Amino acid sequence: MTRIEKLCAEKGLRMTEQRRVIARVLSEASDHPDAEELYRRAATLDPHISIATVYRTVKLFEDAGILERHDFRDGRSRYEEVPDAHHDHLIDVQSGQVIEFRNEEIEKLQRRVAEELGFELVDHRLELYGRPKAKKSSH
Ligand SMILES: [Zn+2]
Repeated sequence: MTRIEKLCAEKGLRMTEQRRVIARVLSEASDHPDAEELYRRAATLDPHISIATVYRTVKLFEDAGILERHDFRDGRSRYEEVPDAHHDHLIDVQSGQVIEFRNEEIEKLQRRVAEELGFELVDHRLELYGRPKAKKSSH
C-alpha cells in the first residue's frame, strides 16, 4: 500500500481500483506532474481511466489534504503528495523543471518577519523562478 492509499484509508475515502492507480502514480512521481501528465502515466497502468476521473480524483485528494496543488505560473496545476517535511521550490523558467530545496535561514527569516508583524507563522509558500546561469566561456 502506498502512503497516499494509507492516508485515503485514514480519511475514510472509498478506494476504487482507478483511484488506487492514480494514488500509485502520484506516490511514484517526484516531479510535480499536472493532471494531463498524471493521466498519461495512469493510462499506461489502466487504459480505461479517463482524464475526467483523474481531475475528479486529484480534487478529491486535494480536498482531503492528501495532495498539495501548486501553480508555477505556466497555467497548469501541479500536484505532489503532501510532504512529511516542508520544502520550497525553484522553477527553471526555461525547462520548467522544479527543484525542491529547504533553507534554514529563509525559514527563520520568514518566522521573524511574521513575528515583527505580530503573527505566529503557521504556513508559507515560496517559489523562486530562475534560469540556469550561462557557463563562462573559456578563453
Ligand atoms: Zn515539492
